[in-house]
Amino acid sequence: MIDPESAWHDSYRHPTRWDSAFPPLSMTDLFDGATSRGGDAPLIDFLGRHYSYAETRDGANRVAAGLKALGYGPGDRIGLFLPNVPHYAAAYYGILKLGATVVNFSPLYTAAELEHQVADSDTKLLFTLSASALLPTALKVLNESRLERLVVGSVAGALPTAKSVLYRLFKRSEVTKRPDDPRIIAFSRLIANDGACPSPTIDPMQDVALIQYTGGTTGTPKGAMLTHQNLSANARQVMALDPHPDMHDRILGVLPLFHVFANTCVLNRTVLNGGCIVMLPRFEAGQVLAAIDRTKATALPGVPTMYQALLDHPKIGATDFSSLRVCISGGAPLPAELKAKFEAATGATVVEGYGLSESSGVISANPYEGEGKSGTIGQPIPGTRVRLVDKGDPSQPAPEGEPGEILVSGPQVMKGYWNHPEADVEVFVTDAQGGRWLRTGDVGTIDSDGFIKIVDRLKDMIAVSGFKVFPSQVEAVLHHHPAVKEAMVIGLPDPYRGEHPRAYVTLNDGAAATADELRDWLNPQLGRHERVDQVVIRLTMPKTMIGKLSRKDLVAEVMAEASHS
Ligand code: AMP
Repeated sequence: MIDPESAWHDSYRHPTRWDSAFPPLSMTDLFDGATSRGGDAPLIDFLGRHYSYAETRDGANRVAAGLKALGYGPGDRIGLFLPNVPHYAAAYYGILKLGATVVNFSPLYTAAELEHQVADSDTKLLFTLSASALLPTALKVLNESRLERLVVGSVAGALPTAKSVLYRLFKRSEVTKRPDDPRIIAFSRLIANDGACPSPTIDPMQDVALIQYTGGTTGTPKGAMLTHQNLSANARQVMALDPHPDMHDRILGVLPLFHVFANTCVLNRTVLNGGCIVMLPRFEAGQVLAAIDRTKATALPGVPTMYQALLDHPKIGATDFSSLRVCISGGAPLPAELKAKFEAATGATVVEGYGLSESSGVISANPYEGEGKSGTIGQPIPGTRVRLVDKGDPSQPAPEGEPGEILVSGPQVMKGYWNHPEADVEVFVTDAQGGRWLRTGDVGTIDSDGFIKIVDRLKDMIAVSGFKVFPSQVEAVLHHHPAVKEAMVIGLPDPYRGEHPRAYVTLNDGAAATADELRDWLNPQLGRHERVDQVVIRLTMPKTMIGKLSRKDLVAEVMAEASHS
């Protein structure tokens, strides 16, 4: 239990709208309301091909009816292993209309990562894409796990430009033909049905709309259960930040939709507002600049690395940014110089925000207009409260004037972790009024205007271009090498990606592996952002008083060496 409310000198609320109410709303009601208003207006612009609100709703209804005909229903877990393609939106809302739960899988997952999370969530059916490197991975998991079926979308019907972009991005050489197997169903066949769309009763406060995998504070992968209300509230909270929401907004959708940041700030928030998602399947700076020019995009949610890559691109000077109103940066710290340079080059405002998977995406943000504070993650968004607690004891306030762990409370905070009640005990703190607070594992300060600054991280996590890498997962792979005795992975500052992982190992007596051999053995087993630049062989590792490996001391040693060299 934490202290009574009155004892807290550092509990911050949005200065004017902290108590904004976000009444319970299911994601299906949010979607149906928006799509009935949107009609023929485009919801998705996919490389020039438009998908209207009505068309996307029809697709979602057909996905729901098709899944029902296959025997799936409320409570089932159905996975999305897709890049940003129009199928994503139809499948996502279709699964919700069935009353089932979406499980998001990163398209960068290796087969081992996908298999682990499919098993952990007991996902029954997975949507994926043909003509992509994803299909061989999904097929492997289909054959080696309890997964029952794959639904495979195709870009065959897409415009020639879309097809060529997809082939290039997903390497034509890796294209696998959809095998002839009754467990593998074409997306077009799933939706070619005239079944009625199911209309289950959904309890927005209790029913889980999305399971989002994250390492949490410990690095062990677990699924954050986000209810319909968590997601619909976060979309409404984010929209409330925008002083001029406009149904003609065009939001660049290049952040991967499987991640909560894009789920809220690109997909759900755009649907809610009636705008158009300019969807790109993968980040390529030249493609993004061309899309801004072509569509006159008004908003560009991104991670700092993306803004840097756009600035570095030779076409930046020739791009017309006059339509671009706001860039929402999150996922990793936004360097003040990058913000200033990007704003000078484009005339758009870059607004830094912050959040995590367990909070459906967004907790705090700088104002879109007026005085933001560079180097901060802004103020708690409407309906959200934040407080700082002692880093060692979350039941106590942080000592006055000192940084503390950031706790958050609001309608966007998850229900709990899927099948990990022991992790819930760690991550939630209850106050004297019975209020539930989520521990973020991030350490910050809050100024007198309520602007939060992140100064440290308690959790073992490395943020690589906004993607999260959990050291324990890379270390677990290293431990499979017969020469490795001890392993630690840490994040080092990286001017472009924010941080990058590096591995440190000690070897078993008599083992003779070289650092390069170990790196070349390790990297192919890892996802793209997990790959290490080096494996460093050491004679000993720093340890704590009780003999545990100490990442904190290793970081301190490595930083001290770097400052002397
Ligand atoms: P995820 O659950 O993958 O969204 O990761 C959430 C974590 O990303 C947070 O707990 C932070 O450590 C980090 N993060 C998100 N936004 C920011 C930001 N603007 N500045 C610094 N770290 C951030």
